[in-house]
Amino acid sequence: MDDEANTDLGTLQRPIKVNSPEFEYVYVANQRCPCGGDYTIVRQALMLTTPPSDRLECRCQQCDRERVFVFDIGSFFGQSEKYGRFAKTDRHFHEALLQLKIGQLTQAEERFLRVIDPDEGEPNFAWALFYLGSLYLELERPAEAYEYLSRAVDIQPLDAPLHQMLAFACRLLGREKEARQQLAIMLELERRFGVSDAEGEA
Ligand SMILES: [Zn+2]
Repeated sequence: MDDEANTDLGTLQRPIKVNSPEFEYVYVANQRCPCGGDYTIVRQALMLTTPPSDRLECRCQQCDRERVFVFDIGSFFGQSEKYGRFAKTDRHFHEALLQLKIGQLTQAEERFLRVIDPDEGEPNFAWALFYLGSLYLELERPAEAYEYLSRAVDIQPLDAPLHQMLAFACRLLGREKEARQQLAIMLELERRFGVSDAEGEA
């Protein structure tokens, strides 16, 4: 590994799979710096790798720390008819949220699954994974809840509500130790950043 790769975490990570350019911005908007600050995108570069990728250089609005996000754009690059498709995913997300609120759980489940569909939706949409996992908790299907909530936590490890919900899933599965670990992380994040409202941005 050369020095450049060592100093640039963005190149060491596996590119994040996205199915639309808009979702790259949603993804960054939902990330936070370890200090709690939001990121501003300072530079964008298209990289003609295989598959092609989009590199967003970001800076924390609070502490100026830099972070690079690299997105795998192979599923839509060069296919302009696919560029606007996040609008549909976003519509499904908001309709699913509404259905969840009014207790139409089967319909909400179906819609959230479309939101995170690996081909048609956005599989790295952490808030959709979070709400789908929460829905499975309501349906008393903890194994599925665990699967989706774990994915959400991997994507947004600094969001307390995700850890709290994952802890509930662990508890229902009898994974008491893991549940306690997740609750400890949740409390630490709430101490650092305050209590958030778990709405997400899209
Ligand atoms: Zn910061």
